[in-house]
Amino acid sequence: MTDFQIAVFDGDGIGPEIMAPTIDLLSDLAAASGEFSFQFKHLPAGAAHYAVSGDALPAASISAARAADAILLSAMGLPDIRKPDGTELTPQIDIRFELGLYAGVRPVKIWPGQPTPLSAAWNDQKLSEVDFVLVRESTEGLFAHMHEGVVTETHATETLRITRATSEKLFDFSFKLAQQRAARLGRPGRVTCVDKANVFRSFAFFRSIFEERAKAFPDIATDAAYVDAMAMWMVQKPRAWDVMVTENMFGDILSDLGAALMGSLGLAPSADIGDNHAVFQPCHGSAPDIAGKGLANPLAMILSAAMMLDWLADKHAEPALAQAARKVETGIGALLKDGTVLTGDLGGTATLADIVTALRGHMAL
Ligand code: ATP
Repeated sequence: MTDFQIAVFDGDGIGPEIMAPTIDLLSDLAAASGEFSFQFKHLPAGAAHYAVSGDALPAASISAARAADAILLSAMGLPDIRKPDGTELTPQIDIRFELGLYAGVRPVKIWPGQPTPLSAAWNDQKLSEVDFVLVRESTEGLFAHMHEGVVTETHATETLRITRATSEKLFDFSFKLAQQRAARLGRPGRVTCVDKANVFRSFAFFRSIFEERAKAFPDIATDAAYVDAMAMWMVQKPRAWDVMVTENMFGDILSDLGAALMGSLGLAPSADIGDNHAVFQPCHGSAPDIAGKGLANPLAMILSAAMMLDWLADKHAEPALAQAARKVETGIGALLKDGTVLTGDLGGTATLADIVTALRGHMAL
């Protein structure tokens, strides 16, 4: 039996509420499998922790997270707790830089029966074929020098940085992800490079590295698209994509568009992955407006935990972990298809406790 150490950031707002049932589910999946187990270590960080300690991401928490096999993070930040300069605390972004998590993986999937803003234009059967992954570079691009912009009386300048080393790793990661998806979904894989290579030399450089690295993955089809066209195509032909890879700022914007296509932030999971560490967290924030009311949708957090299971399965060659991830996805698919127990963000009236009970029923846990 393999034992995994999991660092847990319970975070702010709805964070602790959605983390608790996720940890219970992971523990029960481990017990049911008998092949692996988890030790969870809860670490302080976030806006509420800053309010009492003056530190949103303590060094001790980062080093404990570094030592863990994987990191689960719910949501951090509260609009009323800010730094002296008035900006919000962003420990969930800072951790990507601290741990070198260059590949931000944002799956966009529409589950059968799930309400989405596209429903008026598409019939449900076609919509349930929407299943692609956006890989957002997360340590450089327009965020590389994010606190160093120059502002004078007459102009403001920010710097966008693309490096060969990170781009090569980012593209290799994306091609391998396409290979894994091709094997799992039983169809050929494709990676689309999303850039603005027609206008900016930095993006022509980005695309040239993409084309170079593509040669090492002849089984994966490739193409490229300009980011503005991609924003349109994600709405007009959302079934057309498999894996798309892009720069940090473009990925920031397109991942919110992807979450909107899915109908609710409450169903959008994510992973931030580097060479040695990975953080798994929902796309949504701490939702202070519903915190403490027991109304939050925990599914994005639970789907992020399923991504953690897949990542650990691949890293440690442990298929039982991937089987547990499929069990989570099948359970969530059945819950959404049934459609009778849904939280408010999905158009229902269920509480967090109701949806967890219903999900566990569908998973026979
Ligand atoms: P951030 O900037 O930290 O990403 P945000 O200000 O964009 O945060 P969220 O905290 O994600 O916003 O919340 C946006 C809206 O979505 C809020 O009305 C919130 O209640 C709702 N929301 C977010 N997550 C969930 C969830 N898991 N379940 C239900 N509603 C949610």
